[in-house]
Amino acid sequence: MKKDLEEFSDILNIRAHHLLCIQGFQGRGYSQGFVKNMDKIVNFLKNNPQTLLKVISSTDDICYCCPHNIENTCKQSPSAEDNVKKMDLKTLNCLGLEKHDITTYEHIIELLSNRLDSSDLKEICGFCLWIECCNLHK
Ligand code: SF4
Ligand code: SF4
Repeated sequence: MKKDLEEFSDILNIRAHHLLCIQGFQGRGYSQGFVKNMDKIVNFLKNNPQTLLKVISSTDDICYCCPHNIENTCKQSPSAEDNVKKMDLKTLNCLGLEKHDITTYEHIIELLSNRLDSSDLKEICGFCLWIECCNLHK
């Protein structure tokens, strides 16, 4: 069953490295459904910075509409789930967060701007397919 944004109003589940992807999103993605969902989430958070996010390291409300999400595992490539988990862990470490922490999107933005530098970004995003069209890497 698809989620509507109203269902996002309480708490969004976001895997840690997607906190970066939200900042870099330029309207491209794995499928129309993925882009539509991502666009909704990005705009919702921009307009509702007090939204609570639970920071996780597994398939989330963004993966939810991704064609590579097979039975709640990232199957974008044979090693994708391991790779994205590593990206999540690096992001958590950089931001000083623990898996399953709950905080506002506003606080996440503060952490991203205070704790992340370009070498962290390179380290986290090094193998991402979208790096050339990601706003964070311009
Ligand atoms: S380069 Fe890829 S992983 Fe990194 S923020 Fe952009 S879309 Fe996300
Ligand atoms: S490629 Fe994997 S981690 Fe990325 S949105 Fe799709 S299922 Fe989630």
